Amino acid sequence: MTIPTIQHFAEYKTPFYYYDLELLDKTLRVAADEAARHGFHLHYALKANANARLLAVIRERGLGADCVSGNEVAAAIASGFRAGEIVYAGVGKSDEEIRLALGENIGCFNCESFPELEVINDIAGSLGKTARVSLRVNPNVDAHTHHYITTGIEENKFGFPLEQLERAARACLQLPRVEWRGIHFHVGSQIADMRVFQQLCAKANAIQEELLANGLAPTSVNFGGGLGIDYENPDEQPVPAFADYFQTFAKHFARLPGQQVHFEPGRAIAAQCGTLVARVLYVKEGTRKKFAILDAGMNDLIRPALYQARHRIENLTARPGDVEPYDVVGPVCESADCFGKDVLLPPTRRGDVIAIRSCGAYGEVMASRYNLRPLPGARFSND
Ligand SMILES: *Cc1c(COP(=O)(O)O)cnc(C)c1O
Repeated sequence: MTIPTIQHFAEYKTPFYYYDLELLDKTLRVAADEAARHGFHLHYALKANANARLLAVIRERGLGADCVSGNEVAAAIASGFRAGEIVYAGVGKSDEEIRLALGENIGCFNCESFPELEVINDIAGSLGKTARVSLRVNPNVDAHTHHYITTGIEENKFGFPLEQLERAARACLQLPRVEWRGIHFHVGSQIADMRVFQQLCAKANAIQEELLANGLAPTSVNFGGGLGIDYENPDEQPVPAFADYFQTFAKHFARLPGQQVHFEPGRAIAAQCGTLVARVLYVKEGTRKKFAILDAGMNDLIRPALYQARHRIENLTARPGDVEPYDVVGPVCESADCFGKDVLLPPTRRGDVIAIRSCGAYGEVMASRYNLRPLPGARFSND
């Protein structure tokens, strides 16, 4: 990540997201090369960041798209992603969204329930189309032994329970407007421990064996997203561990002859290329603490408030003096509007420019107008 000098930012109104599109492109090159080594297909998860400038770079590198709403399908199409390489997941697809996706002839629906299968079949029939469908399974990868997957239990609303999978596959075969392709997983996010993916492969192997034993052969398997990034050291590890990640699946997943293998990375593609840039409005002395109050708030970046996420925070206005702890907070009327507690910064003053790192994923796309604040702007390295 190359962050421009402080002079570069001097003229810009803060807060804004700054995107290093060269780093994004490098990340994409590594991801695409490492996936190609094994013949794996990539679909970028638009949910992480749907900024049109980023989407153009991602599409240029040949990735497909992973969408979770009709508007994301429309955004992918508008950005030039090939419809046949769009996959569409979500537990609550509306009739209108299904109609839109069928109208665009997307590659595959990742379907999550029996009633959804029937609705897709009916709507496809009314449009004279056939829907390609994969079945999302909740593989129940144990969250207790691997605390990286903190959403394992809450994710119960996602996918078919394992014991219903065979029945769902048979339902697909019986529905005239549905073409069954295979199985889909997405077990969580920010997973850095490859043993979790190894465990997912073992589950997938067992599931697949069971299907085959019952005469059901999935032609495609999709392992979703979830590869983590290094939030602590964005400069040491700007590009996530794609080689390890794909090798884990190549080694541990028992791929059937001719079977397609898909992935849906979001965070791993977009996170490190983004920085939220803000200015210090006030430095306030509390009884025991110093607060650096920024002009960016939780409406601009909600991850710390929503997930207790920690981002690296830097003062770009270099000053002499020893570092001291600051609570770095926003102006929004919520105690949760705090970007970091006891962050070590050099002596910090009103007007200093602050960088909150690794914000390219689940940052700008989750911004809101809470407190009627304006949405953050965006700046790009190649402007
Ligand atoms: C969120 C999501 C992804 C992307 O997850 P990351 O952790 O950002 O890689 C992929 N697939 C589905 C179905 C998702 O919901």
